[in-house]
Amino acid sequence: AARRDPINNIMFYDEQKEAEQREDILLTELRLAILRGEIDIFYQPKVSFETLEVHKVEALARWNSAKLGFVSPGEFIPLAERHGLIMQLTEYVVQQSCEQLVLWKEEKHSVNQIAINLSPTHFQIPDSNKRLIEIIRAHSINPSQIEFEITETSMMQSIERAEKSLDELRSIGFSIALDDFGTGLSSLTYLQRLPINTLKIDKSFIDSLLDCEKDAAIVKLIIDFAKTINMETVCEGVETLEQAILLQKMGCQYAQGYYYQKPVPANDITSSFECSNDM
Ligand code: C2E
Ligand code: CA
Ligand code: CA
Ligand code: CA
Repeated sequence: AARRDPINNIMFYDEQKEAEQREDILLTELRLAILRGEIDIFYQPKVSFETLEVHKVEALARWNSAKLGFVSPGEFIPLAERHGLIMQLTEYVVQQSCEQLVLWKEEKHSVNQIAINLSPTHFQIPDSNKRLIEIIRAHSINPSQIEFEITETSMMQSIERAEKSLDELRSIGFSIALDDFGTGLSSLTYLQRLPINTLKIDKSFIDSLLDCEKDAAIVKLIIDFAKTINMETVCEGVETLEQAILLQKMGCQYAQGYYYQKPVPANDITSSFECSNDM
């Protein structure tokens, strides 16, 4: 039972113990799930505002545990990070994504690029790039078919290390996206120093787009700025037609969000959306 000191917000001993027990069980199950390949990769379209076609998707890990039921990435990703499992998970996502790209190519499917999330600790892990590059080289795909999504948090530890690592990935031909853009603190420094292709404007700005003029102005500013420095923009968390219309008017290139499609298994990806909205 959840019991908390109402004034000091301190966890009681038994509550803390319960949390630790859940973490232990989750961890044991997660280790097994990764080993046995029980993590599913879902994909979510990044819809081109120009053509409403889908050539790019983001890979998102899903864990439906036989023992624990559905566990959200918001819970198991940080757990994997805390316990040294994240690299194994990233390698697994890269492996699955490569296989999927090969399948889509055989099917002449419209999707030809998958974005993969890198953990904020990626740059601290020895040989992390090398391990990913080896997997990708084992498949007949072009590095430009993979985009790595990173967040500003991953640069905080050491921008030098992040820069070196990203330069290496870019030089091989991978694409780099800065995720959750606008929520960090020193974004402009990162943009200046790092080899970034794509800015993903954070959902929080899209949420308030229609009822906060300030946020709308920030989104417009980011889109215009990105264009000037030759970066692409993706707006995440697009949930309504009204948001989509406004973002398209502002000149954003891609939309990602439930309005178009939630993350789904590879076979359920919609390749092209109808122009249902006088856009
Ligand atoms: P993220 O990278 O910012 O991913 C976007 C999240 O927003 C996803 O949540 C996606 O399902 C959700 N989303 C997309 N469109 C909408 C929308 O219109 N409305 C709402 N409410 N949500 C939307 P998800 O899949 O639960 O993932 C949460 C976070 O977990 C991700 O945030 C990412 O940081 C992390 N994550 C997921 N899969 C992986 C992975 O394979 N590796 C790593 N390192 N992190 C992952
Ligand atoms: Ca992401
Ligand atoms: Ca994001
Ligand atoms: Ca986010």
